[in-house]
Amino acid sequence: MAEGYTGAVGGEQALRTFAAFARRACGPETVIDDLLERQAYSCDGLTAHRAVPGLVFVPRTSDELITGVRELIRLGVPFVARGAGTGLSGGALPETDGVVVVLARLTRILEVDPISQLAIVEPGVVNATLSAAVRDHGLYFVPDPSSQVACTIGGNVAENSGGAHCFKYGFTTNHILGVEVLTPTGDLVMLGGESMDVPGPDLRGVFIGSEGTLGIAVRIVCRLMTLPLAHRTMVAYFADVVAAGDAVTHLIRAGIVPAAIEMMDRGAMAACEAATGAGLSLAWEAALLVELDGTTEEVQAGLDQVRACVSAAGAGEVWVASTEAERDRMWRARKAAFAAAGRVAPAYIVQDGVIPRTALARVLESIRSIGREAGLTILNVFHAGDGNLHPLVTYDPNEPGAYERAERAASDIVRVCLSEGGSLTGEHGVGIDKVCMMPEQFTSDDLATFWRLRRAVDPAGLANPGKLLPTPRLCGERPGRYVTHPLESLGVASRW
Ligand SMILES: Cc1cc2nc3c(=O)[nH]c(=O)nc-3n(C[C@H](O)[C@H](O)[C@H](O)COP(=O)(O)OP(=O)(O)OC[C@H]3O[C@@H](n4cnc5c(N)ncnc54)[C@H](O)[C@@H]3O)c2cc1C
Repeated sequence: MAEGYTGAVGGEQALRTFAAFARRACGPETVIDDLLERQAYSCDGLTAHRAVPGLVFVPRTSDELITGVRELIRLGVPFVARGAGTGLSGGALPETDGVVVVLARLTRILEVDPISQLAIVEPGVVNATLSAAVRDHGLYFVPDPSSQVACTIGGNVAENSGGAHCFKYGFTTNHILGVEVLTPTGDLVMLGGESMDVPGPDLRGVFIGSEGTLGIAVRIVCRLMTLPLAHRTMVAYFADVVAAGDAVTHLIRAGIVPAAIEMMDRGAMAACEAATGAGLSLAWEAALLVELDGTTEEVQAGLDQVRACVSAAGAGEVWVASTEAERDRMWRARKAAFAAAGRVAPAYIVQDGVIPRTALARVLESIRSIGREAGLTILNVFHAGDGNLHPLVTYDPNEPGAYERAERAASDIVRVCLSEGGSLTGEHGVGIDKVCMMPEQFTSDDLATFWRLRRAVDPAGLANPGKLLPTPRLCGERPGRYVTHPLESLGVASRW
């Protein structure tokens, strides 16, 4: 159903007209047109794909944002919202003839209502900043992506981000009450509201996870939760990943609901330990980090149950944090995993797929054999409770053919997830990365329905074109992997 989707008209002249308009209406410091500075916005966390945007617009207030984006719409210029650019699926990859709309300056927490347990924020507020700001009220914002010290709540909304504690408490969508959206036709609409249940269809839910394709979140109503009174955290070690996978199934079948269940294989543990010196034992093939929260009595009882369960599943050693500092060390190790993988190889692809938890052990075996066949080291570190895998497929970009092997291995892993009845993304989104795999999970009728929805909201195709939903053009001409030209390395030439 991509046919008939005409796309934007924009062009060079429209970009120049917009730049002049934004300088006049919003101030010269809101426009970045210098080539070198634009290059800083050429990719997000998926650095293998790059495109230098035609222009970057950095509004300082929501009024400037709305004024600027309405002018882009009038001119028919495609635009891509960008929070912190930590996305791992290329969602914020620009169009060379479009504008990146950077929301990082919209960082105001507009309201905190501790009685109703909500906060209203601008989209550029950093995830961890919100929790820090409401801590004195005994509250926090639950979604906790490992990137939480950098990523924005606008980005979390667009990706429906997850995190270690989403197993018990749900994903971003479960913690957002309302979103004020600037639609791709320039209207300001409030989706949802300030309570859990607003009459009518759940358009708030439709917007969350739409990856910037249905408009820009301008104001976000976040649900806050009461900080748990107590927590206990432990690391259980296993002689192999299959036993650790089985332990997860046993834990959940026993009716235990930990706040988090994270798994690391030996390769991931070694990298994390080297990066953080947290004290992980490297004598084992796999570890489960399990956290319980609640009242002191609840967590103590839960801890005893978890201990019994992991021991029955074959855990060889259990490390229970006895101080807050020890707990911090455990989490620091886990949350450092993506950065720490840089110690194993100069480059890696972060895959993100979902499987039914019961298939965990089988799928980990398949990942092992995919890595062996590709001749690549794959590290596994993931949200085991949700069945949300994050294999890190490492490779050396200087080795001819290595990137292609890594990309094939990463795609094969997703196909294993799909064959088990899982999903091609758990929390990192489709972006540009998986857009061509969408037909492997969804039927053409499904995709046609998605397209109808998108066209109804964005008839001109201006909001984040090329992402999330496949078009024949896109899948044939996806921007290739970025390879630095020797003249670029020497600083003699640059590319835009
Ligand atoms: C080290 C590391 C660890 C990570 N760990 C996790 C994790 O545990 N769980 C997880 O879910 N993700 C994780 N991520 C991925 C990433 O951090 C999340 O997807 C995050 O929500 C992106 O936020 P951002 O502000 O960086 O968004 P960006 O990367 O800037 O944008 C992401 C997408 O959101 C759109 N967008 C941004 N702001 C808005 C807005 N206001 N309105 C509409 N659309 C918008 C963009 O167009 C783009 O499509 C991790 C990334 C890194 C680098």
